[in-house]
Parts: sequence; structure tokens; C-alpha cells
Amino acid sequence: MTRVLVVEDDPQLVRALVINMEVRRYGVDAAPDGATALRLAAARRPDVVLLDLGLPDMDGVDVIRALRGWTRVPILVLSARQASDEKVAALDAGADDYITKPFSMDELLARLRAAARRTEGVPPAPETVLVVTEEFTVDLVAKKATRAGRDIHLTPTEWHLLEILVSHPGRLITHRQLLEEVWGVSRSNKTNYLRVYVAQLRRKLEADPSHPRHLITEAGMGYRFEN
Ligand code: CA
Repeated sequence: MTRVLVVEDDPQLVRALVINMEVRRYGVDAAPDGATALRLAAARRPDVVLLDLGLPDMDGVDVIRALRGWTRVPILVLSARQASDEKVAALDAGADDYITKPFSMDELLARLRAAARRTEGVPPAPETVLVVTEEFTVDLVAKKATRAGRDIHLTPTEWHLLEILVSHPGRLITHRQLLEEVWGVSRSNKTNYLRVYVAQLRRKLEADPSHPRHLITEAGMGYRFEN
């Protein structure tokens, strides 16, 4: 069963969404504000998050940022706001898709199915939990990186990027794959994000960041991790 977390402060809309989804055998949890949403997301591990941007306690974009600190769950943003910079902010923060109110229930359900399908392509949990190189160690379960016995502090975005690369040693991960996984954007005009974040990771992890031995650039294509 696909679990959906509905984050919306309009009780009538929540009721309509819950009825329509439960009839189609979705499991639904509802949160009326951002704080409840973050708590429920951690406790219930939904397959898709349906998120209203205008919440009583916090900006929906901040909810997206908080979720993206630890999960790749598809986020479908729901908003009455027409302004396109809001959409861009939501997508930049890591939302996957955007639907403007008022919407038809059929369209919403179609987008929801598409979002749920996307998670099916995400590779399974890595069999290797500890990735060891001569210079640094990454513990994928404890979510910790250490270098010369010392914990390295990584931001959620840096961690997410590192996690993807070290989970696929020796394999080229394309710019597009990384942008989709980490930022939820399919546009590949954001490769400068990747350059910045990979440079930060190298500074923190590589012995000689200007001659990286583990976080390798494949010019024009993407990045590759070598043990
Ligand atoms: Ca609202």
C-alpha cells in the first residue's frame, strides 16, 4: 500500500483528499501544520508527501528543506499561490512536482501515481554499510563520515551527495541523476550546484582536494567514487 502524508491546514480539503485516496487504497496520514508534518514524516515514513505551501506555523518551503535533510520521499507541492518564484523556490528546495489550486481530483491522483512510481526506481538500501578508503570512512547506517579518526561535519546536502556516490563505487553517476536525487530537479542547468558541493566534499574528505583520488570528475558527464 502506498502511504501518503497530506500536509494541509484546510480541513475541508483534507477531508476530500482523504476520502478520494482511501477509496483508491492509499494509506493516508494528515498533518495540519509543518511541525506535525515533520514529526509524522519521520514516524510514518510515507511514500509520497502532498504539501500545501501556506501553513499556519511555517513556510512550506522550509518543510521541504527539513525533509530533504534526511529523505528523498517524493514531494508534491499543493498551493493556491500563482507566483512562479514560489514554484521555483519549492522546486529548488527539493520538491518533485507542483500543482496549483484549484485542481481536479483526477489530475492530482495522476500526479500522485507518477510521484509514487518514481520511488520504485531508487536503488535498494546498500549492502555495504561501511565504505572505507585510505583517507576517509563513510558509515551509511550511522550517517557518519570520519577522517583520521575524527568526525567530519557534513551538511544534509553534502551528505546526500556523498551517500549516492559512495553507494555505487566505480560507477559514473550523471549530473542529471545527482540533481534529480539531491535537489529533485530534472533540469540539468544546475551543474554549478554540483561543482560547489563536490568541491566542499573534497575539501573535507580528500588529502589533496585539488588532486582528488576518490571523488572523481568525469568531465561533462558526472562524478564517480573510487575506493
Ligand atoms: Ca493553506
